Amino acid sequence: MLLVPCPNCGPRNAADLTYNGESHRRPDPKICTPEEWRTYLYLRENPSGWLRENWYCGSGCRKHFQIERHTLTGELREPILPGEKTGTTKGDMK
Ligand SMILES: [Zn+2]
Repeated sequence: MLLVPCPNCGPRNAADLTYNGESHRRPDPKICTPEEWRTYLYLRENPSGWLRENWYCGSGCRKHFQIERHTLTGELREPILPGEKTGTTKGDMK
């Protein structure tokens, strides 16, 4: 069982959450090039290391949040709600 720390509810079973993939900035469709839009839709970094991900706490607080996950070790850190700044290490889990 993977415990994912929701910023509102605390650690929750990952089966109670919805994984929404790698977090990346959406370009403005009115001014971006077709290549930038295609990159946004289909390409992901898939790094070997820390990756910021989007999750949804559907059976708890019903909020979307982001968290950093280490793709090699599975460590989780820095759960934040949209609009919060990153850079802190609150909520570290190992
Ligand atoms: Zn929650």
